[in-house]
Amino acid sequence: MSANGVSPQVSKKELQAMAYSDPLTGLGNRHRLRDKVRLLAAERAQDPAPFTICIADLDGFKPINDLFGIEAGDEILCQVAHRLKACVPEGATVTRHDGDEFAFVLPLIFERSGAERIGQMMRDVLSAPYDLGDRHVRLSASFGFAVYPFAGDEFETLLESAETALYQSKRRGRGQITVYTREIAHEMKRTTQLEQALRTAVIADAVDAHFQPIVRLVDGVTVGFEALARWNDPDLGFVAPSVFVPLAEERGFIDALSETLLRKAAEAALSWPRDVFLSFNLSSAQLMDPGTSESILSILHRVGLAPHRLELEITETAVMTSAETAERILADLRGQGVKISLDDFGTGQSSLGRLRDFAFDKVKIDRAFVSQITTDRASEHIVKAILAMCDGLGLQVVAEGIESHADAEKLKGLGCEMGQGYHYGRPADAASTLVYLQKHYRELVPV
Ligand code: C2E
Ligand code: MG
Ligand code: MG
Repeated sequence: MSANGVSPQVSKKELQAMAYSDPLTGLGNRHRLRDKVRLLAAERAQDPAPFTICIADLDGFKPINDLFGIEAGDEILCQVAHRLKACVPEGATVTRHDGDEFAFVLPLIFERSGAERIGQMMRDVLSAPYDLGDRHVRLSASFGFAVYPFAGDEFETLLESAETALYQSKRRGRGQITVYTREIAHEMKRTTQLEQALRTAVIADAVDAHFQPIVRLVDGVTVGFEALARWNDPDLGFVAPSVFVPLAEERGFIDALSETLLRKAAEAALSWPRDVFLSFNLSSAQLMDPGTSESILSILHRVGLAPHRLELEITETAVMTSAETAERILADLRGQGVKISLDDFGTGQSSLGRLRDFAFDKVKIDRAFVSQITTDRASEHIVKAILAMCDGLGLQVVAEGIESHADAEKLKGLGCEMGQGYHYGRPADAASTLVYLQKHYRELVPV
């Protein structure tokens, strides 16, 4: 062996081969990919016929590595390499980048539909179970394609475009295929600008909590308020929470956003009559984070709001993604007196079993059913069925999105206990909410 650890018998050719290959799978590596792309681009310089590159990334590979061990992870990577080599069209090059990322050069794929077809085929091939001897593992993969020269006429830009497309696939969930276009690049840029502005707003405490009344239907007495996030950016204008909440989740700062909002909402609730509760939306990402219950309780403690005045709204999708962690968080919070509402009931991936297995206190019927209750018989039947079921399970019910007197009367007639919607009040800032309370609040007398 020589000082650098390479045996002197290794020929120059072998050395070169080593520098261009991935020792685990035997595929080419990033250098090979670069050379292949440059070669093709040079060949086609005179006659710029397109060709395509692709990056494939395994979804959720890290947890598998952590769960089954590195050896099992390596075995899967080798099987992936084997499958990919066997299924790519003739003349294609397959390489492995870092970790669970693979790349391809596809000289005979000229446009989007061809790229998508190959992507679907590779996705199917990779989704078959992986044999680990004593068990089988299933995986999906995400794909990003970039077509030369539209998506870049140099290796670096072409690769960057494929990465952008892959990133877009990952944003859309698992097993997605994206071919780079200018619009995608544009959207990514806009999203990143939005992210930066939102991060700044969170730090500057510029995202606000507004409050919408929740009333008892029989007499219209206000029983609580739902806090709804509001953000008015000086440059971007009003941005809806249905846009910026998912963005904060995706980019990993929902905790910071939610903590600020809960603090502001709880501070506002301190000025309300003591029997008026605060309902606060929790995002699904927070129900996967074991630190959530402690963070919520410590904010309540610091602000001085009693936990029994807080209700947390969660969605079915949220409890589904990480059921065990979610269950623990909710149990901790309920143990301290916090109540749990199931939001948007009837629209998500509804499973009635979840109503039985999870300890909820309240169900909020989604606006989709309430808004048509006076005109659509099917909606009315659905609402009736939900009310009967909640009655049997001992759950309280709030109907969301009541916009008219007729809606309110109908729901009252069906025996729905609580409601919320523009008919009773739109979301308003903390100061206007106090004015609203001065006008509308009456002490809750049992009916
Ligand atoms: P959600 O929790 O179901 O909130 C109810 C939405 O319905 C709110 O929209 C509210 O303004 C709207 N709404 C209330 N009454 C009526 C009505 O009578 N008619 C109509 N057409 N709409 C009505 P908003 O404020 O745009 O919030 C949208 C969603 O964003 C919320 O749905 C919730 O999922 C999420 N969100 C809002 N604030 C927060 C927050 O602080 N944290 C989290 N994690 N999510 C939030
Ligand atoms: Mg809600
Ligand atoms: Mg809702």
